[in-house]
Amino acid sequence: MIRFLLLFLLWTSVFASHVESYRWENGDSYLVFLQNQKLPIRSLYYNLDKDDQRLTEEMRAGIHYSMLKDENGNILQLLLPLNDELQIHIYKENNKYKFEAIPIISSSKIEAFSLKINHSPYYDIIKQTGSKKLAEIFVSSFKYSLNFKVDLRKGDRLVMIYKQKYRLGQAFSMPTLKVAMIEMRKKKHYVYLNDDGRFYDEKAHEVEGFLLARPVRGGRISSRFTKRRWHPVLKKWKAHLGVDYAVRRGTPIVAAGSGRVIYCSRMGSYGNLVKIRHADGYETRYAHMKSFRRGMFRGKRVKKGQTIGYVGTTGRSTGPHLHFELRKRGRAINPLRVVQVTTKKLKGKQKKAFLKLKKNYDESINLHLKNQTKYVKTPKMQRMCYFNNGITYE
Ligand SMILES: [Zn+2]
Repeated sequence: MIRFLLLFLLWTSVFASHVESYRWENGDSYLVFLQNQKLPIRSLYYNLDKDDQRLTEEMRAGIHYSMLKDENGNILQLLLPLNDELQIHIYKENNKYKFEAIPIISSSKIEAFSLKINHSPYYDIIKQTGSKKLAEIFVSSFKYSLNFKVDLRKGDRLVMIYKQKYRLGQAFSMPTLKVAMIEMRKKKHYVYLNDDGRFYDEKAHEVEGFLLARPVRGGRISSRFTKRRWHPVLKKWKAHLGVDYAVRRGTPIVAAGSGRVIYCSRMGSYGNLVKIRHADGYETRYAHMKSFRRGMFRGKRVKKGQTIGYVGTTGRSTGPHLHFELRKRGRAINPLRVVQVTTKKLKGKQKKAFLKLKKNYDESINLHLKNQTKYVKTPKMQRMCYFNNGITYE
């Protein structure tokens, strides 16, 4: 049983055991990491089931992880975050190292700021908030509809409302945009996040962003994207970082977007796998293929909608299906959020609900404009860390 008694520890603690925080280096693999730390590879990798082994492949450069050591420098516990919801917990029990995936506890807050533009939205947002993430989100939400370079004037204003996740008082993970507003030549332009998880403009038309085609025709979605899910039978935490489409064996799989094939071969539990790199740091993956289309090779350019292979059940798969992943700069994101079925115009009941939501947001936007809401910086705290309380520290 996982006991969710979480113990807070300052990393500069005076206890005999102490927490150290490190950055996952570029090019490090989980196996190499175990070797370097002199941790047992058999029990912490080879004896794990395939799902847990897959999780270990999610460690990415730049992630901050924590280690709890005793006074002799022996590792007692390790926390390796896999995404913003799930982490690997390695701990010592009865002199043996154990592996488990556990949730990351976090809370979230709705935040907002407004500013007058002096240079550009991108530059000014970074200047006020210090956050490249916020600047990128804002700019990309108007990328296909507005031309800042032509139409912006000095003194034009913008407002951004977004949800930010916090863990132990520190902001982490990608903020979620709720509303972005920019006023240019006295005209306000908006992007709203609707309850259906898609973005719409003030006319209830879906905002076109990075658009993907559905990679297979027909079939049904048999498993959705989740960063963490409790498996009631196996009694453990898992993640499914893609979408599964259950379809007939041999169904053609098409490139969800134009790009370049960067992988076209077998890869462990993925089976026959194609990876395609797209613009803006996006990458799509198509797994468990029966076969590749003839003439597919690494380096080949493909167009959106072009057949790249056929549905199968190679690798770790229980039946014919396509496992489809979307990643941005290595991070897994939910493809269903950006997969284009048709660009939607809301109508009827859906439109009514959206307009109600929009009205509330507009009121907030006007308030932030009037009050000239400034971005509030979270005070920098000492680096902290929490560990599952399997050990007594007093
Ligand atoms: Zn899958």
